[in-house]
Amino acid sequence: MPGFNERLGAVLAQRRRDDLYRQRLTLESSQGPRVRVDGREYLNFCSNDYLGLAAHPQVVAALRAGAERYGVGSGASHLVCGHSTPHRELEEALAELTGRPRALLFSSGYAANTGTLTTLLQSGDQVFQDRLNHASLLDGGLHSGARFRRFAHNNVTDLEHKIIAAPPDSAKLVVVDGVFSMDGDTAPLADLAALCQQHNAWLMVDDAHGIGVMGEGGAGSVTAAGLDSAQAPVLMATLGKALGCAGAFVAGDELLIESLIQGARNYIYTTAMPPAVAAAGLAAVRLLATEAWRREHLQQLIGRFRAGAEALGLPLMDSDSAIQPLQIGDAGRAMAFSAALRQAGFLVGAIRPPTVPAGTSRLRITLTAAHTDAEVDALLSVLADVAGEQL
Ligand code: PMP
Repeated sequence: MPGFNERLGAVLAQRRRDDLYRQRLTLESSQGPRVRVDGREYLNFCSNDYLGLAAHPQVVAALRAGAERYGVGSGASHLVCGHSTPHRELEEALAELTGRPRALLFSSGYAANTGTLTTLLQSGDQVFQDRLNHASLLDGGLHSGARFRRFAHNNVTDLEHKIIAAPPDSAKLVVVDGVFSMDGDTAPLADLAALCQQHNAWLMVDDAHGIGVMGEGGAGSVTAAGLDSAQAPVLMATLGKALGCAGAFVAGDELLIESLIQGARNYIYTTAMPPAVAAAGLAAVRLLATEAWRREHLQQLIGRFRAGAEALGLPLMDSDSAIQPLQIGDAGRAMAFSAALRQAGFLVGAIRPPTVPAGTSRLRITLTAAHTDAEVDALLSVLADVAGEQL
């Protein structure tokens, strides 16, 4: 019987052989369109800082002021004595942003999703998830004890068949990403909500990639789809992407939020996010209203990138969001493409299995409001050069 060393070593060796070994970059600068790695400046097209708020002076100032007033550590979980005024104010602002009675902060999106699903669901229930949902949704569903069913990506008909095949008297939850993190496409939320209503199911939307970017005032993809909280009763979103901070929240009605406070183990048994981070989050939420130009500029860059990439015949995917992947297929080729871009001074991640299905490795290009037209044009130009060699 081999020991742990042999087993772990074999797994890593196999990963290397399959071109699936992952390596971290160490940034020597803040997030932004230009970042420093190993002493070299790169144009950054792999960050989820979609609005360019991670290093925004007002967000940084709010963090600093928050730390001066509240210190760094929150000291305890929310239910002990870790909940402070910035947490409360940010929750109120997020409830208002999303048009729901209440919002509840979690320390990460991973915790928010797993905590919500394991609190809502119990054995005998049915949870239906899009095949391409984020890992935290899949993990939460699998750990919940509910009967777990996946449906084909964005396929409302397949979902309907699965709902009809399920026991009619079981509680049903349909769970989707609002914007799919590795494809950039959006869920057909209006159709999903109509189906849920028809079958007395609840709809949960993870809007990690839609909040701040989509919908009126940056309220997200649920608002963009015209759905209210009766049609999509569970809304989760993160603060670490367009809002430039860290953490996440669930927004919903009183009953849902109180149930999470009382029941979500990932909420109860974990230290609250630092109050200064909540203060920074509040500054970021306010910037959604005062700097609406960021959303508009990002939209314009998305159009510019897609038009340019289409003209070059690059393998674009069906996405209108800030996530603009180029489908490569083979993991090794995606790695080689990403390495050639890096050599040319551009950071673009190669996304490989298990994050995406086998044979669909891709370059995940992300655009942000902090990029300029000229930077997007420079990316297109280098993509054309590298594609000539690699594709
Ligand atoms: N949901 C989605 C769709 C995500 O993309 C992510 C982050 N990759 C998460 C949840 C997890 O959020 P966090 O990074 O805050 O844990």
